[in-house]
Amino acid sequence: MSISTNITLEERETIRSSEFEPKFAEEVKKHPGGEKLSQCFQCGACAGSCPVGKITGSYNPRHILRMVMLGLRREVLSSDSIWLCALCYTCQERCSQGVEIADIMLALRNIAVSEGYAPKALVEQAISLIENGRLAAIVGSTDRLRSKLGLPKISTSSKDIIKKIVVTTGFDKLIEKMRGN
Ligand code: SF4
Ligand code: SF4
Repeated sequence: MSISTNITLEERETIRSSEFEPKFAEEVKKHPGGEKLSQCFQCGACAGSCPVGKITGSYNPRHILRMVMLGLRREVLSSDSIWLCALCYTCQERCSQGVEIADIMLALRNIAVSEGYAPKALVEQAISLIENGRLAAIVGSTDRLRSKLGLPKISTSSKDIIKKIVVTTGFDKLIEKMRGN
């Protein structure tokens, strides 16, 4: 599935009632960290303290929480904004309502992936992890450089263990599904 780019409420002139999925907030609240979502009163302290928002300008955790509460399910899950959070937990420390914002971002990512939404770069990294036991494949030039520097070859001993984990957890099937999209 394709990922949208940095959607925010401000960019929308209209929201059709058919776009609302009212049960979305309840769905998110069932995930660890999502329980206090409804306590958000949109003060904006999270957005004001977010280092990612300061850099990108287009990332705003308050907007994302508002969209979740409005039930804009597809729009949130297909947005790349939920993948921009650096999980620094600054917002969570500052929220007077105890909303676990960073954990909600994780919940949204988990729901998004289970529905086949994930940035292409992440899917490629996951494929490399499954196939090579590493996020980035070891290429010949890496080995040659290491040898030149007197370093040992990179061990591939963890490859089988990682493969076992991805098969046991079903992660390989999930990635295969997204690979086909
Ligand atoms: S700081 Fe807390 S209450 Fe304020 S907008 Fe962010 S999540 Fe909502
Ligand atoms: S945890 Fe995410 S949303 Fe919160 S301040 Fe850090 S980067 Fe921003």
